[in-house]
Amino acid sequence: MNHQIFQVPEHKKISLQKDYDPALSPDNLDKEAADLKLKLGIESLSKLQNVLYAQNTYSVLIIFQAMDAAGKDSTIKHVMSGINPQGCQVYNFKTPTDEDLDHDYLWRIHQQAPAKGELVIFNRSHYEDVLVVRVHNIVPPEVWGRRFDQINAFEKHLAEEGTTILKFFLHITKEEQKQRLQARLDDPNKHWKFNTGDLKERALWDNYMLAYEDVLSKTSTPWAPWYVIPANKKWYRDLAISTILVDALKNLKMSYPSPLEDLSKVVLED
Ligand code: ATP
Ligand code: MG
Repeated sequence: MNHQIFQVPEHKKISLQKDYDPALSPDNLDKEAADLKLKLGIESLSKLQNVLYAQNTYSVLIIFQAMDAAGKDSTIKHVMSGINPQGCQVYNFKTPTDEDLDHDYLWRIHQQAPAKGELVIFNRSHYEDVLVVRVHNIVPPEVWGRRFDQINAFEKHLAEEGTTILKFFLHITKEEQKQRLQARLDDPNKHWKFNTGDLKERALWDNYMLAYEDVLSKTSTPWAPWYVIPANKKWYRDLAISTILVDALKNLKMSYPSPLEDLSKVVLED
């Protein structure tokens, strides 16, 4: 399957319900075959990240957004399992602190943007400032309404300075979320993951979907595309993301830097 079909076209008003099936997976692929492919993807990613780090020229920023229990944490754990922790950072953006709120909403985000040679993952991001903030009326519509253009400009700035940006929305159904939350309730080892606050957000599901549709329609750009990943089947979610990441990193056509001096005559003494 060509995973580019998950990329949201620029300036296109999309419908999550009509245009993207959360339960999609190719007919000729089952979990076993997908897991084998994922293994290869993880190996490729590991090699590509090694060159990214050695070359110290490009930066990579990967953004995950989703409803609770859609699998942000587990995707990061599986797809990134071959990544060298040196040269990689994961940031979880939670409710802003008082200090964050004393600044503009992109302040805390920009500080965590990847340095050259680094791969950075955002588990939630500045998109919360047009999602949760909108759904809960934390700021008025005229304030969040202008943020789409601001975000596009911010991401363009990062991209022009050498950052490859990839954004993933993990798309699950409301029913799938129910099953996963129920599984957390049923398993004492998963109780730590259960947060009654998530139920309040679940009740606002439709509002969130509308807010997500706006985000995806207005902020998928050539320099920072959104991918809507079918995420009901965890094995396909992981494979789709790893394939997109490998393709994007290959496109950078990176290479190991040449040695700073001629090493051909170097002889190690006994
Ligand atoms: P988990 O899967 O472990 O629950 P999580 O990402 O849901 O991970 P939580 O600590 O449960 O982490 O939730 C973080 C909360 O912070 C989310 O409800 C999110 O909407 C909220 N948040 C993040 N950024 C902002 C923001 N800019 N303004 C307001 N709330 C925010
Ligand atoms: Mg949560």
